[in-house]
Amino acid sequence: MRYQDLSYWLSTVDEPLTPRPPLAGDTDADVVIVGAGYTGLWTAYYLAEADPSLRIVVLERQVAGFGASGRNGGWCSALLPTSLPALARQHGRDAAIAMQRAMHDTVREIGRVVAAEGIDCHWSYGGTVVLARSGPQLERARATVTEAREFGFGPEDLDLLGPAEAVARCAAEGVRGGTYTPHCAAVHPARLVRGLARAVERRGVTIHERTPVTEIRSGRAVTPAGAVRAPVVVRATEGYTSGLPGHRRAIAPVYSLMVATAPLPAATWEQIGLAERETFSDHRHVIIYGQRTANGRLAFGGRGAPYHFGSRVVPGFDREPRVFAALRRTLGELFPVLGPDVPVTHTWGGPLGVARDWAASVGYHRGDGLAWAGGYVGDGVGTSNLAGRTLADLIRGERTELTQLPWVNHRSPRWEPEPLRWLAVNAGLKVMFAADEAENRTGRPSRRAAAFSRFLGH
Ligand SMILES: Cc1cc2nc3c(=O)[nH]c(=O)nc-3n(C[C@H](O)[C@H](O)[C@H](O)COP(=O)(O)OP(=O)(O)OC[C@H]3O[C@@H](n4cnc5c(N)ncnc54)[C@H](O)[C@@H]3O)c2cc1C
Repeated sequence: MRYQDLSYWLSTVDEPLTPRPPLAGDTDADVVIVGAGYTGLWTAYYLAEADPSLRIVVLERQVAGFGASGRNGGWCSALLPTSLPALARQHGRDAAIAMQRAMHDTVREIGRVVAAEGIDCHWSYGGTVVLARSGPQLERARATVTEAREFGFGPEDLDLLGPAEAVARCAAEGVRGGTYTPHCAAVHPARLVRGLARAVERRGVTIHERTPVTEIRSGRAVTPAGAVRAPVVVRATEGYTSGLPGHRRAIAPVYSLMVATAPLPAATWEQIGLAERETFSDHRHVIIYGQRTANGRLAFGGRGAPYHFGSRVVPGFDREPRVFAALRRTLGELFPVLGPDVPVTHTWGGPLGVARDWAASVGYHRGDGLAWAGGYVGDGVGTSNLAGRTLADLIRGERTELTQLPWVNHRSPRWEPEPLRWLAVNAGLKVMFAADEAENRTGRPSRRAAAFSRFLGH
């Protein structure tokens, strides 16, 4: 496998993807972290920053950034997979507000570290525009803003856009309005994760690549070459978690797929907009997401690939020609200027992680020394940083604002055994696709989609 071929992003990092030396045998550490994506590396970063004397070892089956962190849409956003009302129902209004504010701070914090560490990840703090391109989408845009206001978030956090304002940011076809939040930066995701790996090494952290962990136990992470013994073991394996014994039903891997166009001429960008490299989407049910890359490509993705029986994760699932074709079609519908002739030069995908209750969580159990973070669904670029800072506080026994946030030590229920899990996840996808089609046809909001969202607790 050539790691460069896994995504457009991994093919354009600023270093060769030569694996670091694997673990050679048994060793001891203070903290061992399994997985070198954003979660594992942010945790290492803040632990090493807080206590440079800690011996921290990161074990990665492939190379840093191999997983979703090297393949995603590059929205460094303040989004959470759980809505504010759902958080408030479970933990109270103040906790929900604190969580959202912590996410706003998180985007700024990542910007700070990127600058301080000299990570050249094409950071552009341009916010996100979510377009409304039908009546039902416009209703959802208004409802999102009303909800934000009910929780005390003003236009400086989420603004309702009229058609002209929305088009001024992103001139897609059929725009009737939209929403805009400044709380998002577009990033080159693989440069971020690779730069972070180098930053943690500068702080004395050891990363072993090509080192698969076969078991996580209290006090050790076991690999075929030996074990790392440590009082604290952190699981940061997100979409790959189901491969670990004892965790098969913890997190379901759901695939998201992307395409990237060739660099577009300046004249095309003048028509499309996104002048501040705002990330963009619309208010449809089956999520789509895009960014204008620093070198003028359009990188665009969406969910919709099937969930695979038994939570299997294999490289072939990264590529679904049917989904790539649908993404290309959608791009043409959004931006007719892209026509059929603009070439898509890269296609790729990867697994993200979904907990049974759709809630991200972070936690540490002092009794057995086991820690974890994940279940971010498609919002892990920002959230993993909050997770890393929170884990650093939890592991060091600090009681801070972060350790009081409502997602801390939240335990999601396990997924159903198969075939129920397969049926449920794929049925959910079908409902959402059908809802988008029905809304486009009838111009009326889909009641089935609303019912399904309620079922999920959104
Ligand atoms: C196509 C796509 C688009 C996305 N777009 C966005 C977006 O725009 N914005 C956003 O916020 N989120 C997005 N996401 C989600 C986001 O990328 C993830 O939530 C985030 O990268 C998760 O980081 P992580 O470190 O927890 O997991 P990962 O990056 O998946 O890292 C887990 C690592 O653990 C390693 N590993 C797993 N098991 C083992 C083992 N047994 N032994 C050793 N190592 C192991 C893996 O090889 C991997 O490197 C997207 C995801 C995908 C797939």
